[in-house]
Amino acid sequence: MVPRRPIYLDHQATTPLDPRVLEAMQPSLREDFGNAASRSHVYGWRARAAVDDARERIADHLGARENEIVFTSGATESNNLALIGAVRAAGGLAGGAQPARDHIVTVATEHKAVLDPCDFLETQGMRVTRLGVDGCGRVDPDEVAGAIDERTLLVSIMWANNEIGVIQPIAEIGDRCRQRGTWLHSDAAQAVGKLPIDVDEANVDLLSISFHKLYGPKGIGALYVRSRSPHVRIAPIQFGGGHEGGLRSGTLPVAGVVGAAAALDLCAAEGSTEAERQRHLRDRLWHSISSELPGVVRNGDPEGGLPGNLHVSFEGLDGDRLLAGLEGVAVSAGSACTSEQPTPSHVLQALGVPPERARASLRFGLGRGTTLQEIDEAAARVVEAVRRERGEAVSARSAANQ
Ligand SMILES: *Cc1c(COP(=O)(O)O)cnc(C)c1O
Repeated sequence: MVPRRPIYLDHQATTPLDPRVLEAMQPSLREDFGNAASRSHVYGWRARAAVDDARERIADHLGARENEIVFTSGATESNNLALIGAVRAAGGLAGGAQPARDHIVTVATEHKAVLDPCDFLETQGMRVTRLGVDGCGRVDPDEVAGAIDERTLLVSIMWANNEIGVIQPIAEIGDRCRQRGTWLHSDAAQAVGKLPIDVDEANVDLLSISFHKLYGPKGIGALYVRSRSPHVRIAPIQFGGGHEGGLRSGTLPVAGVVGAAAALDLCAAEGSTEAERQRHLRDRLWHSISSELPGVVRNGDPEGGLPGNLHVSFEGLDGDRLLAGLEGVAVSAGSACTSEQPTPSHVLQALGVPPERARASLRFGLGRGTTLQEIDEAAARVVEAVRRERGEAVSARSAANQ
């Protein structure tokens, strides 16, 4: 018998490809394999038509226009293109005079795919302000406004956090940025497909998307770049055939682009009922864990977080040991993207969570396939593993005291 695979509760790290998305991708993986940049034959035309159609649908879901969507390999690349590309277009990184706008405002709890490009830009002469957050992980829009000066090129603030699920008040922040005459970039990798997003309503000028976070294929992402009022200027960071309006050279993965649109279509069609369903299951999971176990703390914003996210600290435990002892449930300790680092998550640190508690944390990420039975089983397994680990910790302590 094939051993049963663990219950997958790590949907903030990635999601499975929805079978309906795979179905939609099939033609581009088989007979319609052409290069969308080939102008001289039907293979190219068909690929191009598929890309145009996908681009239009994706733009539509975001309240954007087709010419504002640049396909990339994922949110990491989109963030790099947004940040480094904007600085390049503003005259930074050119080795000449300091650009008139040499300042970036961001937040301490951003994904590394924003923080690391900001660190790089700082080494290249840009000034970077990293704002703090409140105990729930929220950034204060007034603090954002206060950090903007006349040399601020852009503000970069994620829509929803990948570790603790907190949703930022992006529309209010967008308002402040507009008033202060600076651009707003948002890493929306955890928000697109889960929350309603309209780039005009939120006054967002640059928006990063990753489709493997919303049941699409891996290796495809997009960057929204506002073209009207204001016209946002970015310069490429990758050079070649001049694809994507010159902003991102490289042959488009047509099947990925088609899958991206299909995935977003499904999220748009099922989003609000699915969000309700996940919220209910998430609350049930938290209730089961917190009613059975003392010394558990929920991190993030209990009122306004992502419906499928639950981040819990278990007092007196080590997250990695707990993970090792937790059979049958695939979750991550803190953030999957930084879980190879022994230091506690930078997000929890920014919340003011003490390091011992931060290290004793698990992130549960529910998704489209998560069932009630899975949630109940996962809760039981977590409770059992925590009791066992705590029991061992207690007996080890008393043995040491004797
Ligand atoms: C997953 C994620 C990324 C990275 O996206 P990739 O498409 O995997 O490069 C960036 N930011 C956030 C918030 C994410 O959740």
